[in-house]
Amino acid sequence: LTHDLVVTHAHVVTVDAADTVISDGAVAISDGRIVRVGPAAEIGRDAREVVDARGLLLMPGLVNTHCHAADSLFRGLIEDLPLEPWLSLVWKAEGAILSPATVRLGATLGLAELLRGGVTTTMDFFWHPAEGVAAARSLGVRVATGGMFFDGPAVDGIAPADRLGEAAAFFDAFADADDVFPGCFPHGAYTVGPDSLVAAKRLADARGGLFSVHAAETRAERETITARYGRSVIRHLDALGILDARTVLAHCVWLDDEEIEILAQRGASVAHNPMSNLKLASGIARVPDMLRAGVRVTLGTDGAISGNDLDMWMTLRLAATLHRAATLDATAVSIAEALRMATIEGAAALGVDDRLGSLEPGKFADMVLVDLGVVNAAPLFDPRTHLVFSCAKADVRDVYVGGRAVLKDGAPVRVSLSDTLEEVAALTPRIAASIHG
Ligand SMILES: [Zn+2]
Repeated sequence: LTHDLVVTHAHVVTVDAADTVISDGAVAISDGRIVRVGPAAEIGRDAREVVDARGLLLMPGLVNTHCHAADSLFRGLIEDLPLEPWLSLVWKAEGAILSPATVRLGATLGLAELLRGGVTTTMDFFWHPAEGVAAARSLGVRVATGGMFFDGPAVDGIAPADRLGEAAAFFDAFADADDVFPGCFPHGAYTVGPDSLVAAKRLADARGGLFSVHAAETRAERETITARYGRSVIRHLDALGILDARTVLAHCVWLDDEEIEILAQRGASVAHNPMSNLKLASGIARVPDMLRAGVRVTLGTDGAISGNDLDMWMTLRLAATLHRAATLDATAVSIAEALRMATIEGAAALGVDDRLGSLEPGKFADMVLVDLGVVNAAPLFDPRTHLVFSCAKADVRDVYVGGRAVLKDGAPVRVSLSDTLEEVAALTPRIAASIHG
């Protein structure tokens, strides 16, 4: 038999350069990679395993470019506060609860929720990043992560002077992995000084890795940075020489026209987190202006403390609707643009669009089967409209990473979620107590 797997008779949404949709399509997979994409009649059934996907939609795995999966442990704990008092309670809770073991538990909870919703690659920004990798590997998903940078005392107990060495060790450990995309992750320009930002970027560049930082999330951050350094956040990062195509900036809510132009010229990517920005009252990012200026915009859920669920479908829908209302322009973000932001643009921001982000020959077979036999998907014209406006996390049926099933009928294949949920329940009284006293 020629192929390992053929998924056939699906509505195939490829997200290739031409946004090709094949109504009775098939994808053939060998050695974890897609080898053929086309009409079912042409691809045939010459494979060890054939999945008949009638009534289902096949699309690339979603790419979430900004998350703190382990913060799922604090979902719903701290609510209805402005950002600054909210953040000080978040850090208090993290300090009381987080250890390598609880980070792994929280990351498993968070990444399992993302997997449930068809996310196959997540950029995860957190303490003890090797635990995030362990959680991702237990589920069978890919993760972009690495050493955190933070001036002053931090919950992982690593001194600021040791962070560069820790980050370098992370690169050493995962340099050759195809399921881990290592990088350097300074928290923000207001919590990490210029020297550490530059050192982190130099390390990332020397290892061919990613660099991501929270940037221009709130008006207060913009004011703090301007007061401290005499220029706004993006100008500050640009003056430090750390904006380029390997840099992903989370949020970018508070940008002026010139800052948008700087991002476009440098080729830096933006991780847009509409749910987090709405809930924390950070503001509405100028996504249509960024898109028109040629800035790469991708989508993130942020953590479950700032958006409560890790839902790329809600994120996708908000990205395609919020900016229409904000600009009074129903064409502000198109269906095709929103879908690309959730898939191929995310992969490009991570520097892996040669292997991920679309269903095309040569790419890893990271694929999602979405149920179209549900009331919210009838009738069917262009299935992409459903993906952006009416499908939900619960409509994801099966997920493949590298051609292997990691979610079947909505349940992770490799781990028992009941064990994870029991462990979280056992920890819950301690979590509840963590913000008191
Ligand atoms: Zn964040």
